[in-house]
Amino acid sequence: MGSHAARKDPFTVARGKLCKGEAGKTGDWRSSRPEIDLTKCIPSKSGKSACFLCWQYCPEGVVKKSIPVEIDMEFCKGCGICAEECPAKAITMVDEHKSE
Ligand code: SF4
Ligand code: SF4
Repeated sequence: MGSHAARKDPFTVARGKLCKGEAGKTGDWRSSRPEIDLTKCIPSKSGKSACFLCWQYCPEGVVKKSIPVEIDMEFCKGCGICAEECPAKAITMVDEHKSE
C-alpha cells in the first residue's frame, strides 16, 4: 500500500539523473574518451534537432541533447557505445592518457 505514490523512482527517471553525484563521477581509470567532431555531427552541423543517437544509447546518460551535442566528461565512462552508434562517424574514442 502506498507503494506507487506520486514520487518518481530516482533510478528510472530520465537519463542523466542516475549517475549525477559524487559517487557517479568517473575516476582516473577511464582508458579512452569520446571526442565529437562537430563538423560531422548531424545536429551540430545542421543546427537542426536530429539524430541524437549518442544521447539515446549512452548507458550513463551523460550526453546532452543539445546543439552542439556535449558529453559530460566528469561522468562519461568511456564505454565507446556512442562512437559505435553514431551514423556520421563523428565520435572518435581517443586514448585518455595521451597528451594533446
Ligand atoms: S550520434 Fe553522432 S551524429 Fe548523431 S547526434 Fe551523436 S555525435 Fe551527432
Ligand atoms: S563513451 Fe559511453 S559513457 Fe561516454 S558518452 Fe559515450 S556512450 Fe556515454
